[in-house]
Amino acid sequence: MSKRRSLSGSILYLALISFIVTGFAFWAFKASLSSSLAELENGANQRLDLYAATLDSEMERFARLPGVLGLSPAVVGLLHTPRDPELQRQVNRYLEHLTERTGATAIYIMNNQGQVLATSNWQQPDSFLGENDAFRPYFKEAIIGKSSHFFGIGTTRNEPGYYLSQALDDDGNAIGVAVVKISLAHLEHTWSQNKALVWVADANRVVILASRPEWKFATLGSLSSADLRKFDETRQYNRFKLKPLKIDELHRQSSDAREVRWQAPPGVADSALHRYLEQTRPLAGSNWQLSVLISLAPAYSLAYSRAGLAAVLTILILTGLVLLNERRRRLRDKLAAREALHRAYLQLEQKVEERTSDLLAANCQLKEEVAERTRAEAHLRQTQAELIQAGKMAVVGQLSAQIAHELNQPLAALSTLSANTVKYLARGNLATASGNLETIGQLVERMGRITGALRSFAHKSQTSSGQSALTHTLDNALFLVDQRLRHGAIEVRREEAPGLLADCDPNRLEQVLVNLLTNALDALQDQPGALIVIRSRQDGNRVELTLHDNGHGFSAKSLQHLFEPFYTTKPAGVGLGLGLALSASIVAEAGGTLTAANHPHGGAIFTLTLPAHSGEPVHV
Ligand code: ADP
Repeated sequence: MSKRRSLSGSILYLALISFIVTGFAFWAFKASLSSSLAELENGANQRLDLYAATLDSEMERFARLPGVLGLSPAVVGLLHTPRDPELQRQVNRYLEHLTERTGATAIYIMNNQGQVLATSNWQQPDSFLGENDAFRPYFKEAIIGKSSHFFGIGTTRNEPGYYLSQALDDDGNAIGVAVVKISLAHLEHTWSQNKALVWVADANRVVILASRPEWKFATLGSLSSADLRKFDETRQYNRFKLKPLKIDELHRQSSDAREVRWQAPPGVADSALHRYLEQTRPLAGSNWQLSVLISLAPAYSLAYSRAGLAAVLTILILTGLVLLNERRRRLRDKLAAREALHRAYLQLEQKVEERTSDLLAANCQLKEEVAERTRAEAHLRQTQAELIQAGKMAVVGQLSAQIAHELNQPLAALSTLSANTVKYLARGNLATASGNLETIGQLVERMGRITGALRSFAHKSQTSSGQSALTHTLDNALFLVDQRLRHGAIEVRREEAPGLLADCDPNRLEQVLVNLLTNALDALQDQPGALIVIRSRQDGNRVELTLHDNGHGFSAKSLQHLFEPFYTTKPAGVGLGLGLALSASIVAEAGGTLTAANHPHGGAIFTLTLPAHSGEPVHV
């Protein structure tokens, strides 16, 4: 759609350009042609002046000659005595002589009846002598007192000529007419030699003189039948067949100038245009018209070349304007693009500012959240630590009865031994007394160990990190449950890899192990052949410890909820259901895992993994 629109736009654009170019070319053509025509008209007028002047002087030369003949006594005498042969010969000779001297074609004298009494060509066979030319206008006009100028074709010799006639008076009576016939052929000859295109038309609009022979006796306008009858009577053109002049009017410039079309006959320089300027003017002192033809070919070719030049210039100017416009448009586009870019930059900057403030706000919020979470975590850790401690204290509570029982025996023994020792000392049996004191010392040491282990277990661990020597931690845990192990006749089998170190706080690991052992002891209560197998090994960067008892194992429900806080199958007051939940949490915090399963050979098995300590072993 837009493609079609742009195509029609281009066509319109081209049409407009063509219109402007054609318009300017046409204007240049017209302007050039009209200025050339004005110049040509001027030139034509100058030529007409020249031709008119020549023609005028030619006719003026003979103007007074007919009148002068009336001054000759011989001429007047002959008109009075026309039958006097001697006088006639005399006048004939006179006229002959005069003709030779003036260059006229013929000079002759007619009586008042129109009969030629004497003539310059009296000796020639076709002499006018005796002819009667009373019908000729130059006689008719002259006899009534008017001097006549007449162009006509001679009736005798068929020669065209200009007739000047005047009446010859005697005491106021017209006794005859003197006629001078002149030929203007030499003028035509000169014009033709100069290649001028010129003609003279008489009052009848018949061409009487012309530089081109085919124009001679051509008519410029249509002739009426009255005219034709008159020509026949006066034999002005000696019954010559008059044809219309083959010149067509194309355009009239003014009353005396017009553009015409004339196809020149072969041999005459002409252009393919066949266009000419015809300039006409009346000849002073006559009713003749003098016309010239001037070729318009140079004017047209100049006009065409100027039109071409104007077209080229217009195209150049238009191309320049189009290029200028294109440049301005590009500049405008560039400025608009720059402005748009600047706007986009400002928008972007604004967005960046907005985003930055958003980010700052989000960052603040995040920081607050992080602080909140840190606080919550700290709180959680504290809660967890307190919980672990609480769990520990629960274990201590559980163990306290056994420990009290454990301590009762040495205390009773101490009491007996000390009483005995006093007696032995009194008897002076120092050896036995010292043996008793040694035993007392051993019992106190054992009691100290028990209370020390309990104190150390109950101790609240401050950190959750550290390294545990696995065997040592297990020894401590087993020591705490030793009384129950012995009381329940439970065998403990240890298959440990030596020197294992785990990345875990030993106090907390001990708590986990005491939990696992206590649970195993509970499961093995009253179990004949009760056995706890403890295995440890290193698997890559992890330390693994399994604790398997051959107790009753887990029910399906226990397996599902084992590590949930407060899940217990033990009677109230015995179990809290926190031991495994806390143990799992301690292990997870150290980066380890604690899982439980039923052993294929019966009983429960716990698997504990911890990250192995990669650094130097720490002695605890
Ligand atoms: P408590 O010992 O206070 O019940 P625990 O979280 O330590 O809490 O143990 C949860 C439960 O897991 C126990 O009540 C018991 O049913 C079961 N359990 C733990 N260890 C064993 C085991 N070795 N054999 C059988 N059942 C066990």
